[in-house]
Amino acid sequence: MLEIKNLHARIENKDILKGVDLRLGAGEVHAIMGPNGSGKSTLSKLLAGHEDYTITEGSVSFLGEDLLELAPELRAAKGIFLGFQYPVEIPGVSNMVFLKAALNAQRKARGEKELDAGDFLAWVKHRVKQMQMNPAMLSRGVNEGFSGGEKKRNEILQMLVLEPKLMVLDETDSGLDIDALKVVADGINLMRSKERSVLLVTHYQRLLDYVKPDFVHVLAGGRIVKSGGPELALELEEKGYGWIQQAA
Ligand code: ADP
Ligand code: MG
Ligand code: MG
Repeated sequence: MLEIKNLHARIENKDILKGVDLRLGAGEVHAIMGPNGSGKSTLSKLLAGHEDYTITEGSVSFLGEDLLELAPELRAAKGIFLGFQYPVEIPGVSNMVFLKAALNAQRKARGEKELDAGDFLAWVKHRVKQMQMNPAMLSRGVNEGFSGGEKKRNEILQMLVLEPKLMVLDETDSGLDIDALKVVADGINLMRSKERSVLLVTHYQRLLDYVKPDFVHVLAGGRIVKSGGPELALELEEKGYGWIQQAA
């Protein structure tokens, strides 16, 4: 699914990623943990194609293609979804209009037929129901006046509607109460399949109680300094990061 090799990236002349190696197989869930400022968000944004950084070395291949050569819109169309810690508000554009435009733009870019209004409505309603959302949310402006929990739910709805192949969720659990956390976890688990992979950036073991990762990695100082199974997250919760950084 995704192969990152010796990736180096810098922001404003500061080296942030200093040789990241990571392989995600189809169907796998990988959690990335690590101290603040270690480059987790940089890595996430870089995969989605944001432009604040410069790649100085290394490669990223996604489904056998050179990801770094692809424009951000094409990455989304090919199945990369980036979830944000703070989802953006788009006042005046209804959720329904936004979702339809996003889905059809991706279908078009993949050379698929756009969904007509009826098919789209049926599809989005199915997803709204799965997310236990009030359908009235669809006619409100995207995240306009939504509570933190509602924004999260809405973000996961976007993910369910778009059906990405690689879901990159950057601290999507930060600041969530337990109900909202479960919503996020249920959405991720609903999307888990043999064909899809998840890269879950999180500070807390808590989310991993609900979304069981196959692998846990520690990103520190711009490199993956330790990898393990779910038990590594428990160990980190207990001992913090100091012991790894000393050993690395
Ligand atoms: P994390 O998500 O692990 O907390 P980030 O990837 O957000 O870390 O940040 C890594 C480092 O890059 C930090 O030292 C941060 O200050 C720096 N950084 C991030 N974005 C910018 C930017 N736009 N300009 C300058 N420095 C930045
Ligand atoms: Mg941070
Ligand atoms: Mg971050």
